[in-house]
Amino acid sequence: MKLLTNLGLLFVSLSIFAQDYQVDLDYYLPKDVSYNQNIPTPKSVIGHEVGDWHVTHDKLAQYMQTLAAASDRITIENRGTTFEGRPLLLLTITSPANHGNIENIRKNHVALTENNAVSQNTAAMPIVVYQGFSIHGNEPSGANASLAVAYYLAAAQGPKIDELLQNTVILFDPSFNPDGLQRFAYWANMHKAQNVNPDPNDREYSEVWPGGRTNHYWFDMNRDWLPVQLPESRARIKTFHNWYPNILTDHHEMGTNASFFFQPGIPSRTHPLTPQKNQNLTKEIAQFHAKALDKLGSFYYTEESFDDFYYGKGSTFPDINGSIGILFEQASSRGHAQESDNGILTFPFTIRNQFTAALSTLEAAVGMRKEILDYQREFFSNARKEASKGGVIVFGDHKDASKSYHLAEILQRHKIKIHEVKRDVVEPNGSNPKVFKKGSSYVVPMNQKQHRLINAMFEKRTTFQDSLFYDISAWSFPLAFNMDYSEMKTTELLGPEITNLEMPKPLAPANSNYAYLMEWHDYYAPKALNMILKKGLRAKVGMKKFSLGGKDYDYGTILIPVKNQKMSASEVATAIKEISAKTNVTIHAASTGLTEGIDLGSNQFRALEMQKVAMVIGDGINPYDAGEIWHLFDTRFDMLLTKIDSRDFGSADISMYTDIILPNSWGNALDKDDAEKLKTWVKAGGTLIGYKNTGKWFNKNEILKMAFKTSKDTARAITYEQRSDYRGAQVIGGAIFETKLDRSHPIAFGYKNDILPVFRNSTLFLETAKDSYNNPIQYTGSPLLSGYISKPNLDKLSNTAAFKAARLGRGNVLYFTDNNNFRAFWYGTNKLLMNAIFFGDEM
Ligand SMILES: [Zn+2]
Repeated sequence: MKLLTNLGLLFVSLSIFAQDYQVDLDYYLPKDVSYNQNIPTPKSVIGHEVGDWHVTHDKLAQYMQTLAAASDRITIENRGTTFEGRPLLLLTITSPANHGNIENIRKNHVALTENNAVSQNTAAMPIVVYQGFSIHGNEPSGANASLAVAYYLAAAQGPKIDELLQNTVILFDPSFNPDGLQRFAYWANMHKAQNVNPDPNDREYSEVWPGGRTNHYWFDMNRDWLPVQLPESRARIKTFHNWYPNILTDHHEMGTNASFFFQPGIPSRTHPLTPQKNQNLTKEIAQFHAKALDKLGSFYYTEESFDDFYYGKGSTFPDINGSIGILFEQASSRGHAQESDNGILTFPFTIRNQFTAALSTLEAAVGMRKEILDYQREFFSNARKEASKGGVIVFGDHKDASKSYHLAEILQRHKIKIHEVKRDVVEPNGSNPKVFKKGSSYVVPMNQKQHRLINAMFEKRTTFQDSLFYDISAWSFPLAFNMDYSEMKTTELLGPEITNLEMPKPLAPANSNYAYLMEWHDYYAPKALNMILKKGLRAKVGMKKFSLGGKDYDYGTILIPVKNQKMSASEVATAIKEISAKTNVTIHAASTGLTEGIDLGSNQFRALEMQKVAMVIGDGINPYDAGEIWHLFDTRFDMLLTKIDSRDFGSADISMYTDIILPNSWGNALDKDDAEKLKTWVKAGGTLIGYKNTGKWFNKNEILKMAFKTSKDTARAITYEQRSDYRGAQVIGGAIFETKLDRSHPIAFGYKNDILPVFRNSTLFLETAKDSYNNPIQYTGSPLLSGYISKPNLDKLSNTAAFKAARLGRGNVLYFTDNNNFRAFWYGTNKLLMNAIFFGDEM
């Protein structure tokens, strides 16, 4: 008994200690309604009050499941899993009567975006609102608020909620980024003291690398709404097109000293393809947020920051799809409570603002229901008028059907109709003729519902109203894919529509007793080569072009001899067939070594070895750039990549690696001793591959000597007020530029064209090498293809180098000025890294 009493006392004192920043559920909820006692509160399910701890995703999922089971206003579905296996939940919340008729409601709603939408009576239709939370895992007030919002929608009683549920269908996505949310919750919770300590120096408020913002492979998922390369985005985009919501909200956090932001953002930075009416409606909706936050006494701002330019963001993607995207940004407590310029910012306070904005969104939706539904109908009807001009875009790469397929796949995810090409065509185009063939080419008719989205994905734009961008200024998909494409006024190439898109299958290789040949153009050729080497097969790479049996083989063709392998000829044949089938890469059988050009026994075929690759990650390394490389190796090519923490680099045995990658860094990832260690390793035969700012570090440590153009400019007639816009205009936020390739250089193997579009978001201007053959990737004289760059920067960039390679002892140092793995959708430049890995020894 004594023990119990003491325990009781302990609990009492604990709750007193923790009381300072603790609230109960009433803190969040509107007071003017009653709540259904049969609906479980968050605390009754997850064991703590909203805001008391950071909710982990498993608890969040548990609550949503329990709530859905208890409420006839809610259904729940699991739309897939994250990379770490967490469910991608969606709650559909509406009145029980609407639930009884939900499929009809959905169909009528989608009909509003189709032909003959005039017959739909918008006055009698519910509005559809997609509410999503915390796409950045360490911006947790959104996902934590979703507990209280979902509870409110399930439990509130009275005419107001009845009206709301009758007039809206809410697609409720409680956590856009389950893996990131879980990672951050673990961090914040493990550092929480009984006496919450708001000192910003406390470890609670500074996460370790890579932090919880990103998903499993360290992607910023709020850039993937257009590329749709990640499973979380795929689920979301599917829901989007299933319903075409009218409003989509995206709840974020920003710096601790800020207040609260809701859109509209900076008006001059709205993408020109977004109708003005969209921005007007956003402004009208904003009145509802302002009113609700005024009532709470919460401060906020609008129109001064953030923008609606890049359609890959959650609050901008809806704008090109007839919907209205709204961004919320709450100052972050980044833990349980933190001192700020505005006093102590508590986690519950941040949650309450998000809760309030979620409800004011719904209030706006009900209040502006017909107006917004009519806007959506008008958006698609206007888009159809523009579309009726007709024409097609044809795209394809006859040397790389896999890459063509992946672009087609993105279009289909966005419900863009694609067709087969009716007949093969060749368009003369200097040294890079465009060859559109059945099986590796697709035709996109312009006259279709998603006309505006097609424009947004394919257009090249080089003039802008503003010179500042919150994110990238260009993303033209055919350029990112290095894809031949043509816009045509007629539809004569339009073949049958493809409703069941499948990766084209190559013909199975014939048996050979002599050799097999695999060209290097296919996107998955590196995956195939890795499989070949992993099976212990000997393979070589051809340094020159040749022809055999009437077929031309380009630079970089892989040769697999049949004799002197560890396997018999028939085992080799089986292995080659399996590899071709698994990777969809064409492999040819050869029965003679005599070719036109280099014969198969020529020493211009260089032996290849299995590569063992490591990458430095951790403090000082840009996690996005590192994550993109990890994702590429792991999910595209099934290649092992050892991630060495920069902290451990000094003590790690690196002798067994053939390649070490240093992703873009802030220059402080490794120290002087590490530099010496790397030099010794390179001199012994290693290939060191560096990206972007690593070049400066290579220079400083005399690993690779390079000359960069300095960008020095002096402000003239620029006022103090204008200074940040002036500086901002000199930033290359992300644009697309043209480079010229020397196709005979191993870094360019597998490229059929001698022009390659590259992504760039840096101002590193690398001087060319004196000898022309040492400049295999060089910016052209007028390199801007799409996006924003200031005139002085464009002048500096022209004719500079994008790559440098140099021998050091028996090894090589390779350097890229630009990221060729950007956000997983730059399929066109991924091969550069694979060439560095497999052929680095030959450079
Ligand atoms: Zn964010």
